[in-house]
Amino acid sequence: MTDRYCVIGNPVAHSRSPAIHARFAAQCHQDLSYEAILAPLDGFAATIGDFAATGGKGANVTLPFKEEAFGLCSRRSARAERAGAVNTLAFGRNEIFGDNTDGAGLVRDIEVNLGFPLAGRRVLLLGAGGAARGVIAPLLERQPAGLSVANRSGDKAETLAGQFSDLATVNAGNFAKTTGRTFDVVINATSASLSGATLPLPAGIFASGSLAYDMMYGKGETPFLALAREQGAARLADGLGMLVEQAAEAFLVWRGVRPDSAQVLAELREQLPA
Ligand code: NDP
Repeated sequence: MTDRYCVIGNPVAHSRSPAIHARFAAQCHQDLSYEAILAPLDGFAATIGDFAATGGKGANVTLPFKEEAFGLCSRRSARAERAGAVNTLAFGRNEIFGDNTDGAGLVRDIEVNLGFPLAGRRVLLLGAGGAARGVIAPLLERQPAGLSVANRSGDKAETLAGQFSDLATVNAGNFAKTTGRTFDVVINATSASLSGATLPLPAGIFASGSLAYDMMYGKGETPFLALAREQGAARLADGLGMLVEQAAEAFLVWRGVRPDSAQVLAELREQLPA
């Protein structure tokens, strides 16, 4: 029987995960199907329950459900525990296992695909939702010179940063709190680009030679990347590489084999120019 997987979110129609996992499955000769499922905002647990009860083997979780997914798991990986958010679920006979592959995907995209080492860099992470949670510890593991988190609701950023205080001092607050500071890497982990909103970032945050990275993908130049270009960021990147790399990690969790992510990223890039 073909094993069933899915991505669950709201919205979810824009997701490229089905295309990615179909390519991984073909590449690794795995018999599986992968679909996108829209869950009502108040119906995530029920949607997951239905999928698992009808033979689903695993699911990716996208916005805004990653923190809710964490609460549904009976067992979690160390990196999911650390993140407090889950983007990969595997359904066993008597358990729901949760993992978080976002951070590994982001770091691999920045350091391997983009060739931009994070060690010694000043990093600013924008956003304090499920995606931001998943990437803080993996970013800190790369030994940056410092990590700051800025969010529309500054108190949410402060609470989030506090959860990693045993690893490092993470500066946190609203966007205005970054005024007068410069960064080598600025990562947009807000969903503002989904609605085409521009973030109210102070001028001068992009250091010379800096990388501006938007986790959003498939929207061409987002308002965040346009602002970064105008403010002198040297390199601009969308989140397509992160998407492919976090998917490869999830595929490894589910199937025990790591696909060739570089080949799939190159194929998708032809369809979705940055
Ligand atoms: P959540 O819904 O959990 O969090 C949303 C975040 O965006 C919050 O910090 C929220 O701020 C902020 N936000 C939303 N709208 C605005 C706005 N108009 N202006 C400023 N801030 C805003 O979403 P996720 O964290 O799960 O996902 C965030 C983004 O990252 C999405 O676009 C998602 O597609 C992308 N993503 C991409 C991945 C990839 O592989 N490329 C992987 C994971 C995520 P507040 O707290 O103030 O409400």
